[in-house]
Amino acid sequence: MTIYPALEIPNTLAAGPGPGNTDPRVLERLCKTGVADHMQADVLRGMIEAKEMLRAVFGTQNIYTYGVGGTGFSGLDCVLSLILPGDKVVAFMNGTFSGIDSLTIRMKAATLAELAADPLNPKPAGVTIVEVPHGQSVTGKLVDEALALHKPMWAFMAHWETGSGRINDLQGFNDACAKYGVMGIVDAVSSLGIADYRIDDYPAVVAWASCPQKGIMSLPLTYAPVSFKDEAIQLLAGRGCYTYVHHPILEARHWGIVGGKDVATGTYHRTHSGYAVAAFHEALRLLLTHTVKQKALDYAYHEKAFRQAVTAMGCEVTSNMTSLIVFNLPAKLAGSEKDLVAKCRAEGFGIWTTLSEPVQMRIGILNQLTVDAITEIVSRFADAMINKGAEFNKDQVMEGLKAYYAG
Ligand SMILES: *Cc1c(COP(=O)(O)O)cnc(C)c1O
Repeated sequence: MTIYPALEIPNTLAAGPGPGNTDPRVLERLCKTGVADHMQADVLRGMIEAKEMLRAVFGTQNIYTYGVGGTGFSGLDCVLSLILPGDKVVAFMNGTFSGIDSLTIRMKAATLAELAADPLNPKPAGVTIVEVPHGQSVTGKLVDEALALHKPMWAFMAHWETGSGRINDLQGFNDACAKYGVMGIVDAVSSLGIADYRIDDYPAVVAWASCPQKGIMSLPLTYAPVSFKDEAIQLLAGRGCYTYVHHPILEARHWGIVGGKDVATGTYHRTHSGYAVAAFHEALRLLLTHTVKQKALDYAYHEKAFRQAVTAMGCEVTSNMTSLIVFNLPAKLAGSEKDLVAKCRAEGFGIWTTLSEPVQMRIGILNQLTVDAITEIVSRFADAMINKGAEFNKDQVMEGLKAYYAG
């Protein structure tokens, strides 16, 4: 048997699609929080306060708004548990994450026989996956046509598809759901806390899920925000779902949501960590102090700077998200994406390629909203490109960046 030395993980420059670096204040709350059980008064109060702040971040009056312990897919598992075997669903897929969400939906909507036929990749008759080519957005027109044709019970879309860096048409999705009487479910993992929107402006979407590690900036494993409209909760109350731990009604109890109402304190659902509650609470305080609106403006401002610099290096940007740039290398370097990324990662510069075909580069700016941070990312990427044989003048690229920031 080996007892290994204590695990040291270095601080890297996390410049990917996520996770982003966690604010020091969030980490400080995590470390400075005392040991207290999950029914201690301040832990319960922290959960109630976090729930209320989360409603402000989402822009919602939905009572059923809270955090699901875990990662983005934990929150998605919770909202997608609304779907039962045999339900008719149309899901739009334009990249890695909406692809995984579509798989989750196929698993949940499959009948016993459909699941047994292909347990890891079921293809239930009731589920239609509408595939949109990589690099393109899901449009309102496409959603309208698919819902008119299939008349499903549920429709699903990722708001921002992080795999290809594309923003999908949330307004069009909402309007088509309203027009055909379909209940919408949205993966807002990559947009919450980055884009400026209020979910109550999209009333045909009955359930939303996000994550701790992207716009919320609270990685140290905390909570995946979710929000449900009352009609979704009523449907669930009437027909149930196949999970205890991620049950949307049961999981809400610990956050002080019982019988459709806010109550003074939560009741036991599972053991919550006071460290995680305090970290999540601090992350929400930080976001609301910055304001969702200003943060969205800051992302747009810095993304533009970064996009211009990468374009000046001869790359072609194909994304339109503001927290992440997805792009093709100059023709001369085409094919060396994985090698370039591996070299950067070995030096603590955490950039990515796409996870599904075609291979493209992905560099993110989550919580890197300063001139210094963007300058460092541009400079390190320029060095890596030049080492690979790219032909551009780095001084010129850095001057261009400076000029952008000088206005
Ligand atoms: C990151 C991401 C996920 C998965 O989140 P995890 O925290 O890795 O579980 C799901 N959907 C989208 C759109 C994402 O960007």
